[in-house]
Parts: sequence; C-alpha cells; structure tokens
Amino acid sequence: MASENAGKVKVAAVECGAYSREALSKAVDAAVDAAGGWPKKIRGAGKLLLKPNLLSARPPEQAVTTHPEFVRAVIQSLRKAGVKRISLGDSPAGDHPWEKLWETTGMAEVAKAEGVDLLPFENIKRVDLPDGGSLPILKELDDFDAVVSLPKLKTHLLTKVTAAVKNSYGLIPGKSKSVFHGRHQSPADMGRFLADAYGLLKPDFVLMDAVECMEGQGPANGRPFPLGVVLAGADAVAVDAMACRAYGYEASDIPLLATAAERGHGVADSALIEKTGDGWDLVETKKPKRSTSDLLHKIPPVLFSGLTMALACRPKISHDACVGCGICERVCAMNAISRDGKGRYKVAWRKCVLCMCCVESCPKHAIELKYLWSRLFG
Ligand code: SF4
Ligand code: SF4
Repeated sequence: MASENAGKVKVAAVECGAYSREALSKAVDAAVDAAGGWPKKIRGAGKLLLKPNLLSARPPEQAVTTHPEFVRAVIQSLRKAGVKRISLGDSPAGDHPWEKLWETTGMAEVAKAEGVDLLPFENIKRVDLPDGGSLPILKELDDFDAVVSLPKLKTHLLTKVTAAVKNSYGLIPGKSKSVFHGRHQSPADMGRFLADAYGLLKPDFVLMDAVECMEGQGPANGRPFPLGVVLAGADAVAVDAMACRAYGYEASDIPLLATAAERGHGVADSALIEKTGDGWDLVETKKPKRSTSDLLHKIPPVLFSGLTMALACRPKISHDACVGCGICERVCAMNAISRDGKGRYKVAWRKCVLCMCCVESCPKHAIELKYLWSRLFG
C-alpha cells in the first residue's frame, strides 16, 4: 500500500533553543536529514554559494540578519557532505560599505575561521521576465553550481512575512531594488513581481534561521522572538508556507507565496507537504506578533497610494537616532529623502511610494513607518 506521504514535498522543523555551536550543529544536521539530506547537486557542487539575509549592517542580536553561528553550522555541515569551495554573498538595498556589513553582521569572523570567501556582489546581467521586461541579476551567480539559501524568519511591513522566497530577492543588485519597489507599489503588485523574480532565482536548498525570528514591525524594526527552530527543505515555497504558520498565516494569506505556487515555482498547499522533525509544536503554538502589514493588504491596489497618504502612513525619521550617514537618501529611488534647512534628513510624503527601502536600509533603526493615529497620539 502506498504511503500517505508518497509524492509529498518534505519540510523539516527541528528544535534549537540557542545559538550555541553544539546546539546549532546538531539541529542543522538533523534538519538536513529530516528534509531528505543534502541534494546530490549540492554534494557534487564544485563551487557553492551561501545566501544569508544581510539586510543591513546590524548586529546579530537584533535578529535582522541571519545569525553568524547559524551560518557557521551550515558551512560545517556542507564540509561534512564533501563540499569544498564555498562563498557567501548578499546584495542589500542601499550602499552599505561591504566591510562594515560583514563585520557588523558577524560574517567576517565566520568566513575567516571557516575558510569561506565573502563576495562583494557588484556585476549585473539581465534575464527576461515571463510577462515581458527584464530583471537585472548578479552576474557572479554564473560562477556557482548550487545555491543554498539561509533566510531569517521575519515579519515584513509590505509582504507580511519575509523568509526563503523573499531571500532570493537579495540576488538582485541592491541599488535596483528601490526602483522595482517604486514600480510595484501595492503589496499585491509587489507580491506578483517578487514571485516572478523568485522563479528566476530559485535556490537548491533552504535552511531557515528561526532560532530567534522577528516579531512586530519587521524586517528591520521588530523585536527578536525565541521561536527555537531550524527549518529546512528543497522547496522554498513549501518551507515558507509552513514557516508563516508561526504568525498564524496560511500560505493563501501571503500574496507572494500564493502567486509563486500558482505560477508553478513550488508547493504551498499543506496537503501536499510532509512535515518532518520535532519542532512543529513550537512553530504552531508560540505565536510571535505580526506587523501592521495586514492593514496595508486590505487597501485595494488602485487606492493604495491615495489612501496611505490620507492615513499619513509614511516613514518618519527620528532625528535623535539619525547619524546622518545618508544611506536612506541614496537608496530612495523617488528622491523623497533630503536634508532640510537645519541639515536634518526628512521624507517628502508626496514623492514617497511607501517601498520601505529606507526603513530596511537604515543601520541605526532611525526610520519607522508611522500611521495617522501614531502621529496624532504617539
Ligand atoms: S535616517 Fe539617518 S542614520 Fe538612518 S540611513 Fe538615513 S541618514 Fe543614515
Ligand atoms: S522615502 Fe523611503 S519608503 Fe518612501 S519611497 Fe523613499 S525609500 Fe521608499
């Protein structure tokens, strides 16, 4: 008799209560095994790319970026599987100096200790999108035989959740991202665009850092939350479809995941996914808090710009926290951020398309999305 799991996509969740080397080593190896083992393509890769989430130059304890000890455990697991040449890279929005990004996120120390190259992604090639137009992607991808995605599980003000599927967006040059956000302003439009981009940038395996996920106003300004799991699988859509349950979502609640599945880029239907590993109780019961993105998703795309303006839903820069680095000014494709007469950075609401690139890129946590009620009463 055929097993009830025959033909299903495996997604593993394994308990891991701390970023200690011993706990992570066990959890990463167990998650890989529970997801079916490292695929042959990865074991046989001459050159392999690790793609963590390095959103901006933030220290690991803020849970904005993939934790360096998690990355170390994955490198060691890959070494045991026989992979020799490993590089690590990401292309965050904005123009963060590479050395500062790697030092602050802890990647510099891990890469040095584990013999891994750090790649400053800088060269571009264009690939065609299915519905016309083209996408700039990082030319350096041609150098690799396989890609392992290492996302951080976080809330997101625009897409509700950011995890494995959205992590592939980091393979688009950082400076192009704000332009695409400007073109696809509503959450639904952006979800469709991201799903198409993901179809061209699928990783070969996913290991997700949810030892501490993010709750609240992610992906940059939320709080760390101890979910205590490592998730793994070969299908990023399936991994995300199960991971988003931590926030009480189904895949159908997340336009990016629903569209990615509709377009055949992966499996989002939980009936077609086999859950393995000992961490599912934690995923389904601990309930980190969502961001306020559910409100934005209720606005019809055609009304998005006008209504968010009317609700005073725009980024606000804290002059106390701002150090004047100028990253936000340079990342904003709409030229909506500039200095005022006193030299302080301000957002011009009428130019802003609410892409969140400045919020995500600020290394000092100085930009937050504000709504009318928080401006009136906050
Ligand atoms: S708000 Fe200030 S600290 Fe943040 S990116 Fe802009 S200039 Fe830099
Ligand atoms: S001000 Fe910020 S949110 Fe508005 S368009 Fe510019 S980068 Fe995007």
